[in-house]
Amino acid sequence: MSTSAQSKESAAPAASPASAAPAKPAFDFLDLRAQFASIREEVMAAVTRVFESQYFILGPEVKLLEEEVAAKLGAKFAVGCASGTDALVLSLMAAGIGPGDEVITTPFSFIATAGSIAHVGAKPVFVDIDPVTFNINPALIAAAITPNTRAIMPVHLFGLPADLHPILEIAKARDLLVIEDAAQAIGSRYNDRFIGTLGDFGCFSFFPSKNLGGAGDGGLVATNDPARAERLRMLRGHGSKKKYYHDILGTNSRLDALQAAVLRVKLPHLDSWAAGRQNRAERYRKLFLEKNLASFVTCPPQPPANFHHVYNQFTIRVPLRDDLRESLRTAGIPTEIYYPLCLHLQPAFRYLGYQPGVLPVAEKTSREVLSLPVFPELKDAQQDLVVQSIAAFRTAQGAA
Ligand SMILES: *Cc1c(COP(=O)(O)O)cnc(C)c1O
Repeated sequence: MSTSAQSKESAAPAASPASAAPAKPAFDFLDLRAQFASIREEVMAAVTRVFESQYFILGPEVKLLEEEVAAKLGAKFAVGCASGTDALVLSLMAAGIGPGDEVITTPFSFIATAGSIAHVGAKPVFVDIDPVTFNINPALIAAAITPNTRAIMPVHLFGLPADLHPILEIAKARDLLVIEDAAQAIGSRYNDRFIGTLGDFGCFSFFPSKNLGGAGDGGLVATNDPARAERLRMLRGHGSKKKYYHDILGTNSRLDALQAAVLRVKLPHLDSWAAGRQNRAERYRKLFLEKNLASFVTCPPQPPANFHHVYNQFTIRVPLRDDLRESLRTAGIPTEIYYPLCLHLQPAFRYLGYQPGVLPVAEKTSREVLSLPVFPELKDAQQDLVVQSIAAFRTAQGAA
């Protein structure tokens, strides 16, 4: 996830041919400045409180954040850690998953999903996605299970819950763990329970562009199992319960007090900010209908009644995606492609031996998706400009 203000892959600029006039975006893909302005006093007070205490790692702020997130989500335990990636890695470690084990996951996600599996020495096994929801297709999971399968790692991509009911059924029947990659979907609900609390581990990221973003990196694992919570706590602090006595091998993946203090200010706003995103998403749908673009632009699915979409991204599917993106760029409209290359085709996973064409739905999706700006403070005029520019492209296509 990258914002215009800061990009994870700052060394990898979006495709912008040197020949094309460099169009300055008319506004940011994600502008968090208005959000900050609305909570500035509280954030600065929280930051000052941490500096006054000079207690920077874990400590009371982290403990309070863990309690508040657990209470919000309805999870018994929450364990803060250094990033969403670490939340996944620590969960896999806590589950004892490692070399020789397989974990079933989606090929259409951020690299950290499958990267975490490979990092603990296990093998990611990719299962194709549903073309409408972009999430793992539960109907294809059973065929991918082998005697080495230990877990399923669904991703709630873009803020829409994966279809957890059939996934949990398969996991139960085959004695597998479910590790939810909920990095993009904090606050989203499935059958009236918060995602991240239905599986064995729920992994969250506080990367600034996520729906609950810190002032840097941070992550958290939710679980209802006291033994797992205890193991996660040990693993994030070098495997110790008692200082300088190490029962197991862990790592350093502690959450900073500064992050926790900032996140505690933001947590109470989670639902209203999600509502703001939903409002912008519904307005996109309405505008696409009004402009007769419904047959050209495929909008994200209207979540079924028992699902909830928190729109970390508003991702459409369009033909001629790359041409449209370039046309929008020259019109000053910022867009992103999440994700241009499926995980099973990434060079880093070449050793797994996947060939192009084996996961056709995900591969086609990666060629057609385009994420449009969506955040509560996105202005009507900015949204109008996005839709008008897509309509202009469509008209030019029709004329050509
Ligand atoms: C952001 C993200 C992660 C990793 O979170 P970090 O905090 O950046 O390490 C994992 N999975 C998905 C789907 C993500 O979007």
